[in-house]
Amino acid sequence: MTENKTLVMKFGGTSVGSVDALKNAAQIVKDARAEFSRVVVVTSAMSGVTNLLLDSAARAAKGSMENLSALESNLREKHFSAADSLVADESTREVVKREIDALIHSLVDLCKAMAVLGEASPRALDTVASIGERMSVRLLGAVLNSAGVKSRAVESTEFVVTNAHYQNAHPNFAATTERTRAILHPLLDEGIVPVTTGFIGATMEGAITTLGRGGSDYSAAIIGSVLPADDVWIWTDVDGVMTTDPRIVPNAKTLPEITYSEIAELAYYGAKVLHPKTIRPVVDAGIGLRICNTFNPSHPGTRLIANAALASAAQNGKQIVKAVTAIRNQRLITIEGGGMLGVPGVAARAFGAVASTKTSVPLITQASSEQSICFAVPSESAEGVVNALQNVFAEEIKDEDIDRVWMTDDVSIITVVGVGMSHTPGVAGRVFSQLGNNNVNVYAIAQGSSEVSISMVVAAEEADAAVKALHELIVK
Ligand code: ASP
Ligand code: MG
Repeated sequence: MTENKTLVMKFGGTSVGSVDALKNAAQIVKDARAEFSRVVVVTSAMSGVTNLLLDSAARAAKGSMENLSALESNLREKHFSAADSLVADESTREVVKREIDALIHSLVDLCKAMAVLGEASPRALDTVASIGERMSVRLLGAVLNSAGVKSRAVESTEFVVTNAHYQNAHPNFAATTERTRAILHPLLDEGIVPVTTGFIGATMEGAITTLGRGGSDYSAAIIGSVLPADDVWIWTDVDGVMTTDPRIVPNAKTLPEITYSEIAELAYYGAKVLHPKTIRPVVDAGIGLRICNTFNPSHPGTRLIANAALASAAQNGKQIVKAVTAIRNQRLITIEGGGMLGVPGVAARAFGAVASTKTSVPLITQASSEQSICFAVPSESAEGVVNALQNVFAEEIKDEDIDRVWMTDDVSIITVVGVGMSHTPGVAGRVFSQLGNNNVNVYAIAQGSSEVSISMVVAAEEADAAVKALHELIVK
């Protein structure tokens, strides 16, 4: 055993989503205990539960309470059947079921209140969404104890302190550090495995917040960085980070190693491997990160490594392009006009208008002629963004300094990622010839300044062809 080494392990929804998954998770924690004397477990809600909770809240806010009894029995069945199979001790099992039942009752009460009010505030939605993790943490804690791992369920609302930006809260690292150490270190000192809720935190005043959908990864990174831990392992349902989506390219492979900057680009550009905010805290704290598969635990998964180590491997001519991703359902919006030339502040006003619609922009390109600015937004926000731009530039449009603001049909953003690209001339050329040879037309291009990624915008219906073509550039 590595004396005094600390490991944070996060289990995603599918990794705690069934009796079999929970069994694997318990065995994985047991095995990790042989290697690390101090282990903290962070868990998501059982798969599908957060969606169920938020759907019910949305319906309730529209005045509908019809599905509440079905929701109640669904949640009870999901959690109770797992407890029945995996928690051997009867009194422990009864306690856990009672606590989960109380949470389900509080959920129903919240939904009824929303139905009466006819609205669901972001704050109320966070309280509803938190219930998934608050149930799963109790279940997993009991399952671990039953499997012989001394553990205790703790709600992260006690120590992950955030601002009041509901549904996308930001941690207060100073307060979180202090409280996390005060609460988790004594348990770890006693050899107990704390099992805590991913995804949620609380404000200084104690109001429950969430870190954004998929935020449990981020929770693990926050907790790992403040403890601090030596390693953070993210347990999911695939063998780590793949070269691309295997549903598009069946011979996609697991990447044994990936650098922090590559995974940051991948997470940003649509590979659903990690919540994009996860990377920052672990990089800053110099903590190791690994992504592995609960359903194939002997597979080593993907290790994140410092950038320098890989740059040399890249120079050996290998792995220049490492992975390809696609973000779908985007539209390109273009602002164009000869009068924009050299006028300062056009971009600032344009993005100010976009920000006012609360839309995030994954890609921007500007031609050097300064006669157009072009960027992508999610399709569902595109019309609102165009309207906002037309309002903010009403004057310039009237004066014909701006000719028009327009949007395309649905497009996809295809991104190739690899640190080796920044050391290798001609990569962009190879990327574009590969697309050209496969008759994929490119509407717009953006290259990250770090040169770790190149993104191309293509028509929605050409996305799969583009991914397949570019995946061929990956050296097998
Ligand atoms: N349960 C939350 C969600 O579904 C958080 C997570 O799974 O990471 O978004
Ligand atoms: Mg997740």
